[in-house]
Amino acid sequence: MNAIVGFSELLARNYNDKEKLEQFSEIINQRCNDLLDIINEILDIAKIESGQLTAHFEPCNLKLVFENLKDFFKTYQKKIDKQHIDFQTIIEEKLKETVILTDTTKLKQILINLINNAFKFTNEGEISAGCRFGNAHDLVFFVQDTGIGIPAEKHDFIFERFTQVDFEISRSYGGTGLGLPIVKGLVGLLGGRIWLESVPGKGSVFYFSLPYRIPEKTVPLTPETYSPDDLQNIKGTVLVVEDDFYNSEYLREVLSKTGLMLLFASYGKDALEAAKKNKIDLVLMDIRLPDIDGYKVTREIKTFNRDIKIIAQTAYAAPGDEVKALEAGCDDYISKPINKNLLVSKIKDLLQK
Ligand code: ADP
Repeated sequence: MNAIVGFSELLARNYNDKEKLEQFSEIINQRCNDLLDIINEILDIAKIESGQLTAHFEPCNLKLVFENLKDFFKTYQKKIDKQHIDFQTIIEEKLKETVILTDTTKLKQILINLINNAFKFTNEGEISAGCRFGNAHDLVFFVQDTGIGIPAEKHDFIFERFTQVDFEISRSYGGTGLGLPIVKGLVGLLGGRIWLESVPGKGSVFYFSLPYRIPEKTVPLTPETYSPDDLQNIKGTVLVVEDDFYNSEYLREVLSKTGLMLLFASYGKDALEAAKKNKIDLVLMDIRLPDIDGYKVTREIKTFNRDIKIIAQTAYAAPGDEVKALEAGCDDYISKPINKNLLVSKIKDLLQK
C-alpha cells in the first residue's frame, strides 16, 4: 500500500519523464496485484469460515487441468527466475481420459496455491504435481518439492490462519499465512482431506484426496481455456452495463480485440433504453448501478426480449449474488475481478447457443 501511495504521488511529479512513468506504473500495477491477492485471500477465508462458499460441481477434465497448470507455471518460472527447477505433471494413465465431477476452478485454485508454495520454498531440484487413484472411492492429488521442508511438529500448525513456520524465513519469501488454511477449506468443501509428509532440508509432499465421482453423461473432452482471439469469428452486439469507468475501460480493451460490436451504458435506465433501441445479443450486467439495480434491469429486459443473453458481473465479496442473478433471469454470472479468459468462454458459450 505504501508503494502504491508513494509511487502514485511520484507519477504526478514526473509526468514529463516517460521512462520513469513506465517504471512507476509497473511498480504500482505489481503492488495493486499483490494487494488484490491479499484482499482475495481474506475474503476467501471469511467466506469459507462463514460457510458461505459453495462448490459448483461440473465435469472436469483432469488432463486439461494439469496441462493448463504446466503452461501457467512455465511462464511463472520465467517471471520468478526459477527456470532451473524441473517442473513435471504426472497423471496416472487411466485418469488421462477421465472426466470427474468436481469444482474445476476450486481444484485449480488448490493446486496453484500448493505449487506456488513449492516454488516459493524450493531453490534447487524438482517440483512435481499430479494425481492417481487412491482407494476405490478417492483420487489422491500431490504436490512434491525438494525445498526447505517443514519440521514434523509444525505439520498441523501450518493449516491454521496467519501461521508461518519461521517468521524470518517467511518474511523473505513473502506471504500472509492464509494460503494453506484456504486450501484446507477448499479441499473440505470438495469433500476431501489434506495432509503432508516433509523432512526439513529434503523437501515436502502435500497430498489431498477428492471423491472419485464421474458425471452421469459422457462429456466431450473440449479445451477449456480461451483468449479474446477465440471470439474473432463470433458475430454479435454486446451491451456493457458498468458504472465504474475503469472496469468499463477494461472490458472495452478486452472485447475490442474480438469481432463483437460493443455498446456501453453506465445507468440502468440507459441500459434499458439501449436494449429497446438496438438489436443486442448479449448484456454484461453490473449488479450495482447508481439508479436501478442490475437484477431489476435484467428482469425488465427479459420481459420485452427473452432471447437476449445476460451475464451478471457479481461482486466478489457478496456471496448469494450469483443465486440472485440467476433468479432474476441472467443466463450466467462472472465474479469481479473479471478473468478475461473465463469471460470469453462464457460469451462464446452463450452466443453459440
Ligand atoms: P504463506 O502465504 O506464508 O506462504 P501458507 O499458508 O501458504 O502461507 O503457508 C504457511 C507456511 O507453511 C509458510 O509460510 C511456510 O512456512 C510453510 N510452507 C508452506 N508450503 C511449504 C513448502 N512447500 N515448503 C516449505 N514450507 C512450506
